[in-house]
Amino acid sequence: MTQAPKDAGAKRGTQAPKDAGAKRRTPPYKLDHLGIAVASIDAALDVYRALGLDEVKREAVPSQKVTAAFLPVGESRIELLEPSAEDSPVAKFLARRGEGIHHVCFAVEDLDGALADLADKGFRLIHSQPVAGADGKRVAFLHPDAGHGVLIELSERR
Ligand code: ZN
Repeated sequence: MTQAPKDAGAKRGTQAPKDAGAKRRTPPYKLDHLGIAVASIDAALDVYRALGLDEVKREAVPSQKVTAAFLPVGESRIELLEPSAEDSPVAKFLARRGEGIHHVCFAVEDLDGALADLADKGFRLIHSQPVAGADGKRVAFLHPDAGHGVLIELSERR
């Protein structure tokens, strides 16, 4: 009784224009995580646990001189960032602006291609080449001037 619609759907699928994907120069970006600068991950966890979230992973990220804790939220995550050195970019952020949202991270399929594309379009990058980020992923940051005050991180999906 319910078999007929399957066939109809398959036929519709084959009728999509073949060049629909080719017109899009950059792959779709997904929201990977929201980076939040905190003085203490342990202290900050209280409020997220009250919201029903919890950390699944904590790790040191030497390239950023931070400790990062990840809390899954749907398909995305909250990344709590605690500085691990006085000259950490996050320590400077805390001194200047206090605790709060530090960056937004989008996941891309091809990080090298995305960086080349953004550089071509004239956007200012902090990293023109990927660096080692949390989770063993390759990441790069755009300059906050390029993001209208928002620090944007790109992370390569694997
Ligand atoms: Zn991040």
